[in-house]
Amino acid sequence: MAVTGMACGQITDPTATEFYEPVPPKVQPGSEMGAPPSDAIVLLGPGADASEWVDDDTQGPAEWTSEGDALVVKPGSGYISTRRKFGDMQLHVEWKSPDEPDKEGQGRGNSGIFLQGRYEVQVLESEGSDTYTNGQAGSIYKQTPPLVNALKPMGEWQRYDIIYSAPHFSKDGIVVRPAYVTLLMNGVVVLNNFEIKGATEYIGLPHYLPHGDDVIKLQDHGNLVSYRNIWVREL
Ligand code: MG
Repeated sequence: MAVTGMACGQITDPTATEFYEPVPPKVQPGSEMGAPPSDAIVLLGPGADASEWVDDDTQGPAEWTSEGDALVVKPGSGYISTRRKFGDMQLHVEWKSPDEPDKEGQGRGNSGIFLQGRYEVQVLESEGSDTYTNGQAGSIYKQTPPLVNALKPMGEWQRYDIIYSAPHFSKDGIVVRPAYVTLLMNGVVVLNNFEIKGATEYIGLPHYLPHGDDVIKLQDHGNLVSYRNIWVREL
């Protein structure tokens, strides 16, 4: 502590540690909680226009179903992905599980948000049935469970706010810095700067393969999960 005090003592002018540039750009916050701020790219807005999305297999138009402001998984049609590619980002997603009380575990309201097409933030109706904890809603699938479960009851809209730092790779493809993710579920921190271990794997351990900016994918897991109000801010 004495050393710190001495170091501080060397500066006597308070203005020596004040600066005026660069000036942070002005961003107009959304009109209400969850609404896109002025610098957001809206990926799914009112009316659920899916023009920012494509079918992940064919790259043709996304086949999911627009219902009001929601885009609903069309089981069997496959994943959808954004036309745009992203790196570091703040991502807002709202989702709602279908009323499927007869289904259980990973078969119940399963979908997912794949950051850069490969790191899955799990979407699941995991409130009313058992599954492995690192596969429940708010997990990084098969890597970590959420810190807490802040899900609302089935059938209500859930809100995810994701802050994501993309991994960095050397020219030789070595991981220089892994990816990190923070997730707020309905305003509650459930992942706190979690170090992602690699691409999501269903079987086996995750590992990294080098990549650059990439798409966001939404998973078709055969359940009628709805999405609305999706926007992203590039960081
Ligand atoms: Mg999933």
